[in-house]
Amino acid sequence: MGYDYAALCRDIEKLNEKYDMTDIFSIGKSVMGKDIYCIKTGNGKKRLFIGGAYHGLEYLTSLFLMRFIDRYIRLSSNGSDFFGFDTDSIYNAVTMFIVPMVNPDGVDIAVNGLDINNPYHRRLTETAGIHEFSHVWQANARGVDINHNFDADWKMTVPYPSPTKYGGKHPGSEPETRAVTGFIQKSGIDMLIAFHSQGGEIYYGFMEPDDMISLPVAKKLADISGYDLALPCGTASYGGCKDWFVKEFKKPGFTVEMGRGKNPLPENMIDDVFWDNAKIILCAANELMHSA
Ligand SMILES: [Zn+2]
Repeated sequence: MGYDYAALCRDIEKLNEKYDMTDIFSIGKSVMGKDIYCIKTGNGKKRLFIGGAYHGLEYLTSLFLMRFIDRYIRLSSNGSDFFGFDTDSIYNAVTMFIVPMVNPDGVDIAVNGLDINNPYHRRLTETAGIHEFSHVWQANARGVDINHNFDADWKMTVPYPSPTKYGGKHPGSEPETRAVTGFIQKSGIDMLIAFHSQGGEIYYGFMEPDDMISLPVAKKLADISGYDLALPCGTASYGGCKDWFVKEFKKPGFTVEMGRGKNPLPENMIDDVFWDNAKIILCAANELMHSA
């Protein structure tokens, strides 16, 4: 049980039928050929990129983002407030590009396991030495950890394909990574939020504790959500999407570790995490709206 790619596709279809305020498109394909969907909503000049499920076990982030989009569109179309944020103004000032499942193969492997007849099964059992895939799988279908595959202080700590933390042969070696970087490079993104689970923490910037581009916003996001402000150290600090974005564009970038517990966080935790994380997105969008 878990929010897999098929569940995401069903929700995307429903969203598409329900509202004409979204534009839904694919930014590229996964190793196994699944479309990596992006949902665009809003009319503003400022552009906010939001990604989820970079890691297989973290599919609660995808479910959260789909629920968030639904409620955000509903409230902004009524001109209603959302935690005191003026959704109508945000909608007209900020365009959101939301990629709810960056790593759809990883999610499916974590949720459903890998059939013994799947060609990737043999490859991964040989290279990663793994026989039981569900409940451990964070990487993509080639055993590369997408959030260690971005070009930002990339290094090889795990030397071979693995359920987690193998950064690939070189930065950007994986199609999921290139789908995200390619899209961001051509889209003029002004701010980025990458959702992971778990820990109840917000990481900001890249390698600089006093990063005055990300830190002031990060403090507000921590305040409004009750999450801890954190600086990455050790293996969490290289090759991530947010790291690459901040390094490349010198713009604010955040990693949010949603919820507290053990991955995979159960789907019924969605109501617990929804409000804190919805506030994080709205607060970030509101800051972006008021930025120069
Ligand atoms: Zn993660």
